[in-house]
Order: sequence, then C-alpha cells, then structure tokens
Amino acid sequence: MTIPARWLRRILHAVFPMPCRLCGQALRDDPIPFFCRPCWSRITPIESPACPRCARPFPSPHALSHSPGHLCGDCRRRPPAYHLARTPFAYQSPLKEAIVLFKYHGKTQLALPLAQLIAGTGAPPADIDAILAVPLHPRRLREREFNQSLLLARHLGRRWNLPVPPSPLRRTRLTPPQTTLTRRERLKNLRRCFAVTAPAAIEGKTLLLVDDVFTTGATVNECAKTLRRAGAKAVYVCTLARMV
Ligand SMILES: [Zn+2]
Ligand SMILES: [Zn+2]
Repeated sequence: MTIPARWLRRILHAVFPMPCRLCGQALRDDPIPFFCRPCWSRITPIESPACPRCARPFPSPHALSHSPGHLCGDCRRRPPAYHLARTPFAYQSPLKEAIVLFKYHGKTQLALPLAQLIAGTGAPPADIDAILAVPLHPRRLREREFNQSLLLARHLGRRWNLPVPPSPLRRTRLTPPQTTLTRRERLKNLRRCFAVTAPAAIEGKTLLLVDDVFTTGATVNECAKTLRRAGAKAVYVCTLARMV
C-alpha cells in the first residue's frame, strides 16, 4: 500500500512544522506545498482588458469597450507567428516566489498546483491537436534536470485530455537568460535557435505551446515561427505568468 503524498505531507508537517515560504506561518493541512492557503489564494488572474492577440494588458480599463478586437501596437506592427497567447497571471508575488522555487530550486511538487492555476482560468481552444512545451537546451536540461514547461504541459494534457507527444522541437543554441538582454540582442540571439526534429508530428496540426513565463514573447514567437515553417497549421500559446 502506498500512502498518498498529501497524507505524508500532513504527517510530516505535524512532526516538523514547515513555514509558509511567504508569510512564515506553520503549514499544517494546507493543500499546496510550501504555501499556506491564504497566501496561495492571493494568486488571482490579471483582470484588466488585454490585447486579444498577445494578451498584453492595456493600461486603460476601457481600452476595449469600443473596439473589442483592438490589437496592441506591437501586434499591429509585427503580427506574432502564434495565433493567440494566453498569459493569465502577472509575474508578481506570491506567484513569483512559487515559480522561483519550482524552476530554480527543483520544487517540482509545485508543477501540479501551478498547472491547476492555469486550468482554472478556462479551457483550451477546441481545435488543439497536441500540447508542446518550449524546450530547454540539452545543457540547461542537464543542469536543471527537468524542463519546468514540460511538467506544466503534462499536467495540462492530463487535465484537458490532450496528448503531449515527445517534443518535436529542439533548442539548438544555448542563449543567455532573456531578461539580461536588450530587445534587439534578444531577437538576434533567438533567431534560428529552435529546430523541428519530427516534422510529421506537427504537419497540419493545431498546437498549444506551453511555457512558464512570458517575458517579451520573443521565445514563444520564435518557437511558433519554427513550428509554422515546418507545417503546423496554427500555434496557440499558454504561459503561466507574464512580466507586467
Ligand atoms: Zn503564507
Ligand atoms: Zn498584442
């Protein structure tokens, strides 16, 4: 007989109370690892109107009241290669701390609750054939030992009953963290940094590309471009958080 993880956690917490990583309160029967219920419940979706294409929030709450299809300046000037992006949460506390623990401190137990946050904001588009994750470069994957986006993608696939095939997308170049670069450097760095290794798996398919954080959108856009070039019919993007 195996003891469910949440029971084990409850027993462990009773013996060695663990503090919530945010407020320090001792965790007891809280369902989310590392966070107490009140802290976790502070993670709420972005509510302001947003660009219908890239989901960038508009500063004015009335931005879309006259023309609901109004795109942001970037999407009008350079339409993205993806069809639509969904970025439901802002990269802010307490979600930010959760993502840092998950991604940089190996707390993969957070993958499920984080995927549940995404799933809680609505179903995926009806015509999706498969879910893909933004790949890590093999060297980074060796260092981190897991691809955080793939863990999210697998939980979403299970929840939405959609396949997550072995990735037909590969990262061919190791790029420095996107946040340290200017826009121009970032775009230059990303050019041709993904390649499709299994074109048959994506040809004519409508794909949902999952990533953890949408910074400028350059990474998911480059992936979408590569997938479209290799014959994908359409690429939707879904990330957990967005830099705002
Ligand atoms: Zn707390
Ligand atoms: Zn836009």
